[in-house]
Amino acid sequence: MTEFEIIRRHFTRRARTAVLGVGDDAALLRPRAGVTLAVSVDMLLSGRHFFPDADPESLGHKALAVNLSDLAAMGADPRWALLAIALPKANERWIAAFARGFFRLARRFGTELIGGDTTRGPLAISITVIGEVPAKLALRRDAARAGDDVWLSGPTGEAALGLAHLEGRVKLSGAARKACLRRLHAPEPRVKLGRALRGVARGAIDVSDGLLADLGHIAKASGVTAELSWEDIPRARAIRECPDAALARRCVLAGGDDYELVFTAPRSARGRIAALGAARIGSIVRGRPGVRVRDAAGRVVPFSRAGFDHFA
Ligand code: ADP
Ligand code: MG
Repeated sequence: MTEFEIIRRHFTRRARTAVLGVGDDAALLRPRAGVTLAVSVDMLLSGRHFFPDADPESLGHKALAVNLSDLAAMGADPRWALLAIALPKANERWIAAFARGFFRLARRFGTELIGGDTTRGPLAISITVIGEVPAKLALRRDAARAGDDVWLSGPTGEAALGLAHLEGRVKLSGAARKACLRRLHAPEPRVKLGRALRGVARGAIDVSDGLLADLGHIAKASGVTAELSWEDIPRARAIRECPDAALARRCVLAGGDDYELVFTAPRSARGRIAALGAARIGSIVRGRPGVRVRDAAGRVVPFSRAGFDHFA
């Protein structure tokens, strides 16, 4: 199979929303009137971001999901995607499965693949997504203010616990194993929530590198301190029942790959946000940019490994 056959067979769909999709030197897009474009790109390398023998269908899903999550965190509607992929060989079944995972998720969120690049090389995937958000309503990291509540869209830590299981650092079984591996391999981008938070939330980010690390980015960009109450941070069943409590705690606070949204909002929005199913986990106060976690007695919980640092 040549590069062009791969593109034609697996990555070409008739353009529906784009003026011109796959097949020319560039795609042509017409954004809706009055919107701002939100654009994001991510790179996934074999052996670094996923196991070399990862299931291709899961990989197609996850590669797009992590990008849609970035748009969700901006409050943007996903519209278009570009896929740059390096493949070691033209393995028809692998590529077909990857495309299946990719397009199933793309269809669910009305995202159209409009272009990309295909080349031979060590397996690597880079996806660019383009979304739309009404002008001025994008959810930014620098918008948190003292007095805001801090909210989390769902429990964190299961993806990292699933990874710990695969690496033999903990032994999960039954429903816990299933839940954690599903989180790790098939994350669900919180697109609908991000959209519902427009004009309601202030600072927002998706949890890709760990709750403390990512909330830390909001704190830094906004010049505020985030104070979390450990008791109020939601715990999934697999986390509550984990045989290694210290590992479970690290996963909740610093585990990556969950793709929940953490965001701040004024107190006046409490009712509306609670109705969306998010958990109120703390507040924003004046102070040095950073994140503090307090236990039920109000003591600061010591925590050093504040997330996953790609260069550590
Ligand atoms: P060019 O050499 O002009 O960059 P290419 O031969 O790389 O063009 O690509 C031909 C067309 O196929 C372009 O429209 C490009 O966007 C699209 N394309 C290439 N690879 C992919 C891919 N993996 N997924 C979607 N579209 C792709
Ligand atoms: Mg090209």
